[in-house]
Amino acid sequence: MGHPLTNRERNQWLWTYDNQVKSSFDKIVEVLKRISALQHEPDFEQKAQALALDSFGFSLPEEVLAKAWVTQLDMRSLFAWCVFETYKRTSEDFFTSNPLGGEEDTAFDSFVQDCGFHLLDVTPCADGRLAHAISYALRLPFSSVRRRPYAGAMFDVERTVTRWIKTEHRRHREGVPNQAHEDTRYLKVVIYHFSSLDPHHQGCAAHGSNDALAASSGLNRLHDFRQAVENSFCCGASVTLLLLGLDTDTDAIRIHVPTADGATNGNRWLDAREVYSQTVTMAPDAAREAIGERVRQEAGGAIEEGMVRFISRLLENNISQIDFVRQFHKGAYGDAGHAERFIGVGIGFKEIHLRNLTYFAHMETVEEGAADLDVGIKIFKGLNISRGLPVPVVIRHDFHSSVPGSRERAVRSCERIAAAVHGRYQDLSRQGLLHTLLTVRDGDHHKPPEVLGSSLLRTPMEEAH
Ligand SMILES: [Zn+2]
Repeated sequence: MGHPLTNRERNQWLWTYDNQVKSSFDKIVEVLKRISALQHEPDFEQKAQALALDSFGFSLPEEVLAKAWVTQLDMRSLFAWCVFETYKRTSEDFFTSNPLGGEEDTAFDSFVQDCGFHLLDVTPCADGRLAHAISYALRLPFSSVRRRPYAGAMFDVERTVTRWIKTEHRRHREGVPNQAHEDTRYLKVVIYHFSSLDPHHQGCAAHGSNDALAASSGLNRLHDFRQAVENSFCCGASVTLLLLGLDTDTDAIRIHVPTADGATNGNRWLDAREVYSQTVTMAPDAAREAIGERVRQEAGGAIEEGMVRFISRLLENNISQIDFVRQFHKGAYGDAGHAERFIGVGIGFKEIHLRNLTYFAHMETVEEGAADLDVGIKIFKGLNISRGLPVPVVIRHDFHSSVPGSRERAVRSCERIAAAVHGRYQDLSRQGLLHTLLTVRDGDHHKPPEVLGSSLLRTPMEEAH
């Protein structure tokens, strides 16, 4: 039963969390159907509120219920309201109850530094089927990883160079996360994805479900980043690149193990499923040793032991996830394709770590990210609009309270993005088939996002003004 290195207790915990959050989103339609059936009964409003409170733990907007006798009950608004309320509760719970662990994991941070890295910067594809990549598929503490999803994992090179400069500067000035003279590097990881069961349809949409193209594009982007650092600062040695692939059916990863001279081959990888079956009958210690040996072999020569340890850890962690999918999803996910519950636009979303919960459209200004958002809207035309349900869009802009004026800029940015979203999809917006929730969060503190308002109704906060 399972692999000797699998963390069963953690698997059970992760399953419970995933199940609890998703079922809170998934029961919305069922409960609203029951509420809709009540709309011509006497005491409709009271009955509807009682049912909502009992099923969701929150009440519905009175204005919408009160209008039901005049026209039809506005199910589109109610649906969006429920999705946004559920999102708010999920976010609050994440920051107050720490379902995936707390703010910091110093043991892991020192492990990463021992491996020779001072920052873990990971770009998965924005596809919702990779939203759990950090906390589930790779089992890394979310607080120790800088995550920046992009469609097709095509991260922005300039912004990453800026992040690299900030990171190195901080090491020089503050000795954080470690002293600048310590021989560690900035590790940039790209996670592309593919489907082992339906490779031509359920792969990465941004790369036309072409695995080889997804891998080579990711690798090219990594090379561009290193080149940019080397050309501008002649210290390329401080950047290490790592290319990973994720099978969205089984969550098994493939690691393109760099060779001794630091080169990565887009056509060669070490498959975690292969490592799993090779070591499944061994005792834990022997299995660990065999994994390390397998990584060294794959590198085809002497790669740094730190890299071997880091990759071995990823493989060991992924073995738990392979068993997770075997145990709770019969070896492959039932939702092979898209099943996201909402779109997340902007920057932030530190609290989202569940597969197929959110489609991310990274957007810092109105101009950029529109293409990613178009992909998201297209996905939700299939998921929601085809059923007469609106597309729920959560807009988010994180800020740093330590920087003067940062919150105000984040608020304005949220408002601009919301206006741009409603402008870009005017037809949907006018029909009530697109709704936005505006949120900001102080990234300097471990606390939930603050809700500014939504396209649905005036919030009590707005009314107070
Ligand atoms: Zn993708």
